[in-house]
Amino acid sequence: MKILITGGSRGIGEGAVRRLANAGHDVAFTYLRSEEKAKSVAKATNTRCYRCDTASEDDVRKLHAELGAADAVVLNAGIGSFDQIQDVTLGKWRRILDTNLTGAFLTVREFVPDMIRLKRGRIVAVSSMWASHGSSCESHYSASKGGLEAFVKSLAKELGPSGITVNAVAPGFIDTDMNAALGADAVGEIVFETPLQRAGTPDDVAAAIEFLLSDGASFITGAILPVDGGYAL
Ligand code: NAP
Repeated sequence: MKILITGGSRGIGEGAVRRLANAGHDVAFTYLRSEEKAKSVAKATNTRCYRCDTASEDDVRKLHAELGAADAVVLNAGIGSFDQIQDVTLGKWRRILDTNLTGAFLTVREFVPDMIRLKRGRIVAVSSMWASHGSSCESHYSASKGGLEAFVKSLAKELGPSGITVNAVAPGFIDTDMNAALGADAVGEIVFETPLQRAGTPDDVAAAIEFLLSDGASFITGAILPVDGGYAL
């Protein structure tokens, strides 16, 4: 399967690149700032990487022109930030919404026509448990992920008749750079409140993505699969 993963240079996206390449898929991924890291991941996994700002219409168009059709797209590129609402500038709000939500829209709009023509395709978005539960001081981030889940469910209805499934994973606390600013106490508290009593790994999420891309998930669409150790229960 030819799979495009957005934001594959680090964290969950890197985990997905490694797992899916290891399973024998033809994987291409994007990055924005981490060029050296992206190139080393591509070399280690025998995959291709492309610099592409997921929030840029021009970049995403260029990516499609270079890559051609994909059988599956994993909408993973994302950013977060901790801010009280009164400190959220319009610029910051837009950057988070543009990356996490508009980026998914631009990628889907570009790659879906090939899938419709071929009457098959898989789309998996990386949402967050905060989409449905809300997170204090992450209202911008949570809103972007809530929008992403509504986007996924709508697309599942629209694209199902074309043989395309559209699902999301909703990770809980995953040990990546995104959470690097959290202190040991905060991490300990999250782990304590997680029924499975540990932080998630990028590969935990990658395994769920792999399942949603597999033949075993061919009758699943519009689903939001939690990968959170039970935190959101
Ligand atoms: P991360 O370690 O910070 O990695 C983010 C990845 O996204 C990097 O590869 C980064 O590329 C890429 N990226 C960011 N902005 C981009 C843009 N405009 N265009 C293209 N690529 C871009 O974060 P992560 O924890 O792996 O998060 C991955 C996804 O999982 C995000 O959607 C996040 O919201 C979601 N998630 C994470 C957690 C968690 O606890 N970690 C929980 C729930 C959901 P460069 O480094 O090259 O810029």
